[in-house]
Formats: sequence, C-alpha cells, structure tokens
Amino acid sequence: MATILPGNTLPVEGSFEPADWRASLRAAYRSSTDLCDFLGVDPKVACPQAESDFPILAPREFVQRMEPGNPRDPLLLQVVSQSAELVDSGELDPVGELPAERHKGLLQKYDHRVLLILSGACAIHCRYCFRRNFPYDEAAKGRAEWQEWLELLRCDSTIEEVVFSGGDPLSVGDDRLSWFIQQVAEISHIRRLRFHTRLPVVIPSRVTSEFTKLLESVEQAVYVVLHINHAQELDESVWAAIRRLHRAGTQVLNQAVLLRGINDNFEALRELCVQLADRQVLPYYLHQLDPVRGGMHFGVPDVEAIELVAALRADLPGYAVPRLVRELRGEASKTLIR
Ligand SMILES: *Cc1c(COP(=O)(O)O)cnc(C)c1O
Ligand code: SF4
Repeated sequence: MATILPGNTLPVEGSFEPADWRASLRAAYRSSTDLCDFLGVDPKVACPQAESDFPILAPREFVQRMEPGNPRDPLLLQVVSQSAELVDSGELDPVGELPAERHKGLLQKYDHRVLLILSGACAIHCRYCFRRNFPYDEAAKGRAEWQEWLELLRCDSTIEEVVFSGGDPLSVGDDRLSWFIQQVAEISHIRRLRFHTRLPVVIPSRVTSEFTKLLESVEQAVYVVLHINHAQELDESVWAAIRRLHRAGTQVLNQAVLLRGINDNFEALRELCVQLADRQVLPYYLHQLDPVRGGMHFGVPDVEAIELVAALRADLPGYAVPRLVRELRGEASKTLIR
C-alpha cells in the first residue's frame, strides 16, 4: 500500500514546496529511469523509445503512493512507458473527438452539454489516455479563444451544462480560471458546471482556497468528476482535498478506466468503490478502454468487464456501482455495456 519513503532527493534543481502545486509540477518525474531508480525497480521495465511521442510525467505526490521495489505496482503501471506501446494497432482519435469540434477546443457530442478543452496540459501522463495523440497544441489556450467560446455559449440557449476538461482544466492557474468560470456562470441558461479533473488526486494541494471560493461563489450546481483507478491512489491528502470540494458544496463523482493488470479484478474494484462511497464520492463511470494507439495492451474484454460489474452489483449498494460504458463515435450518449 501507499508508502512514504524517507530521504527523497529531488530529480530537479530548485526548491520544492509541497503546498505549491506549480512547484510540484516542476518537480515531477519526467524520466522512467529516474522514477525506477527512486522506486528501486529495474529500469528495464520501461521503454524510453515509447516516450518520444508521449513523455512520462508523474508528480512526486503520486509516486510516493507507489510500493518500492514492485514493478507491477498499479500506480507505476499507469505512468511508466512500456514496449507494448510501440505496437501499431489502435486509432489516433479513438472516440471521434475531432469531428465533434464545434469550435477550436469546444466539443459537442451530446445534447445540452459542451466540453471545453481548457488546457492541453495534464499533471500526469496516463499511458492509456485516449487523448495521448490529440493535437493539444491546436487546442484553445488564451483569452481570445475563450472569448469566442463565450460568444458561442451565450448564443446557444440549448446548452445547459459546460464541462471543463482538457488535458486537465485545473492545470490553468486560479486567476485565469476564475475569470473564465465567472464569465460562463453569468450566462443565464447554463444550469450546471462540471470539472473533469485528475489534479485533486495527483497533486491534492491544487484544490486551493481560491478555487473552492470560486466554486462556492457560482449560482450553478457544480459537479467535480475525479479520475481514480485504484484505491492505492487515495491517501489522507487526497481525502482532505475531497473534503474541501465537499465543503464548497460540490457533488464529487469518480470515473475510472478498466485496466488490464491494474484494476481488472473484483477485489481492486470493490475496494475502490467502497472507499469512495464511504467518503460520499459516487462511482459514476467505469470506462472500457478506448482503442487508442499505444494503449491497447491495457484492454479487458467485454465479457470479463460485464462479469466484474455484475459481481460488484451483487455485493454493493446500487449507488456504489459504476456504470460500465464505452465511448462510441456518433452515439447520442456513452454506451452502456451489459
Ligand atoms: C463524456 C462526455 C461528456 C459527458 O457525458 P456524460 O454522460 O454526461 O457524463 C460530454 N461531452 C463529451 C464530448 C464527452 O466525451
Ligand atoms: S489525466 Fe486524463 S487527460 Fe490527462 S493523461 Fe491522464 S487520462 Fe489523459
């Protein structure tokens, strides 16, 4: 389970102040060799060749929850490169995001909800990510694009909900984020705001008081959808961040991805769901892997996935069982698998 190692040495120069999330990002591991060295794992598990397109990125807060000396650690396997990534199968845009673009960085696949790519950056690089080949650089970044989005949102009164996504929307600093969220919140037909973020898990100090004050200040209902795949990702600092989100009046949900070798067994999934339910975080979705090039080795067949979720359903209260879904191009919603 989660272990704090004594005597860490920093892989980068400069000071490291854990309360400062930007410093945490700067101090993150960006090399499999450094990461394996730190954990006492043979660096041969990694595949540097697979990192040229999609570099590794793992903040120290997350790495400290990994088990030293374990090359099969479920957190390590989410971030370390592997030779299986070099296989040619899979798609570059597996869920059809590019055709869903209504405007640069603004996606609409489903009625009444739009998704904004607020930032191309993430605080962690998950090797199975469906956006690992997404042309992030072309995603909107500055105020000029944000103004164009606002215009579109104001003009389309069928939009009821705005999903702030990325990358990770919380990789945008509080100043810029506050400005933009307040602008969105002033649009009267927008009823709900939603954040899809992994940052409260990866660097819990990112849930700053500026951010929670912002959430408290808006009139809309606010949903925060976290991304946690394994109970070992949870520690006291993550729970504290979740408590801050709860105190700000938000509804906190979780989505996970079913991942071969990481959480593809009943015990791991049950433990995750139970721990979340105990702290009033609802397991929302369990995603079947998107067939993304470089991530195919994480896939679990549907028959197995359906059995796992059926076993959870027989064992847990209904609200603690996630919906098993897949994202299919051109469908009116995520597709329920059963
Ligand atoms: C998943 C997703 C949403 C949100 O879907 P819900 O089923 O409401 O959670 C919205 N827009 C896009 C583009 C999505 O991929
Ligand atoms: S945090 Fe989300 S968007 Fe970022 S790499 Fe991981 S899965 Fe992909």
